[in-house]
Amino acid sequence: MNILVQKFGGTSVSSSERREMVVDKIEYAVKQGCFPIVVVSAIGRSGDPYATDTLINIARLNEDCPNPREMDLIMSCGEIISCVVLSNTLRHRGYNCVVLTGGQAGIYTDNNFGDAEILKVDTAKLCECIEKNLIPIIAGFQGITENNEITTLGRGGSDVTGSIIGEALNAQAVEIYTDVEGIMTADPKIVADAAVMDKIFYNEVFQMAEYGAKVIHPRAVEIAMRSNVPLYIKNTMSNSPGTLITSCDKNRNYRQDKSQKLITAIANIDNRSQVKVRFDGSVADKEKDDILFDLIANAGISIDMINIYPKTKVFIIENSLCDKLEALIKANGYKYEIIRNCSKVTIIGNKMRGIPGVMAKVVSALTKSNIQLIQTSDSHTTISCLLNSEYTNAAVNALHREFGLGKSNIL
Ligand code: ADP
Ligand code: MG
Repeated sequence: MNILVQKFGGTSVSSSERREMVVDKIEYAVKQGCFPIVVVSAIGRSGDPYATDTLINIARLNEDCPNPREMDLIMSCGEIISCVVLSNTLRHRGYNCVVLTGGQAGIYTDNNFGDAEILKVDTAKLCECIEKNLIPIIAGFQGITENNEITTLGRGGSDVTGSIIGEALNAQAVEIYTDVEGIMTADPKIVADAAVMDKIFYNEVFQMAEYGAKVIHPRAVEIAMRSNVPLYIKNTMSNSPGTLITSCDKNRNYRQDKSQKLITAIANIDNRSQVKVRFDGSVADKEKDDILFDLIANAGISIDMINIYPKTKVFIIENSLCDKLEALIKANGYKYEIIRNCSKVTIIGNKMRGIPGVMAKVVSALTKSNIQLIQTSDSHTTISCLLNSEYTNAAVNALHREFGLGKSNIL
């Protein structure tokens, strides 16, 4: 049986018109001889009645947040509502289907509420559906613990549901339907000239997702990569082929391949703060220096873009953790400076590995646009720039232009 997992995002199920388009995609899969397994996100975006953010706000109405277990209970409702609504449309069009919560679909997780990790998938129920020719419509973003507690997988987690089901059922592919034509060279909400890619490698799109491109969840890419299930990103509202995410061509000599650009894409992530901690080199200070990162780790604060100099340690954290971190280092007598409201803009490309001059191009593009660089970090295939958030759009556009990534560059 050719199993095809089809995941539909929040905007894809937000109106009856769009739900008909969703059913068109399911119908097309059936006509192609596939058995569709459907995964759905909560309806709409922030502000819509049953969107995840709306449910979170309802839970917080009386100020005291419910405990994480209860937050997961309320958050899991959005996807269940969405599934039931879509099942009506599908039945009207003559298809037999069954709605399943994540737990009913056999997704077992640990009990890390709000960001649970999938431990295993029991495919018995899904196999039974396939046997009975019932199309499963699975609530994305959720699972269940061994003790029957409902958990959620973290924001954007329906993509993870899609990938894990694709892996467990050995699907021929996983299709992620959203509101854009595919993976683009930058967020089209920021760069009007962003181009759709017809194909991209797992590792590059994983980096894009890790560095902020929210078009797909990084864990969903990781799962698809380990099991080599092809992932497609497509638009629910068009018939374009979308982007195929697949494995590296082992025979490819990327340096000699002139058709490939140095940079594949640009991603950005906002709401970051830079922390600079200074030391005077005295014996007493040396002790404080030695334990700084342990202190931060023990407080459960994760840090990024770490640069270490003899008398300074520099790193970035999420804005939301800034007050907690500041209180911690202040109470422990550290000397520090914090720059809040920064963004990390990252250029990504397998081909930049070992090529000189890429950083020079980054700096020159930003300087030409009068954008001050606060900090940089790099790996073989990425260069990240930290800048004040007011420059995010200008920086992403400047780099996109500098590296010739736009539609207008495609002849
Ligand atoms: P869904 O609700 O369908 O999961 P998301 O909002 O999570 O949709 O992801 C789709 C959004 O991702 C697009 O509307 C787009 O603005 C954003 N995005 C960010 N970076 C990219 C990129 N490189 N390519 C395509 N879309 C991107
Ligand atoms: Mg998403």
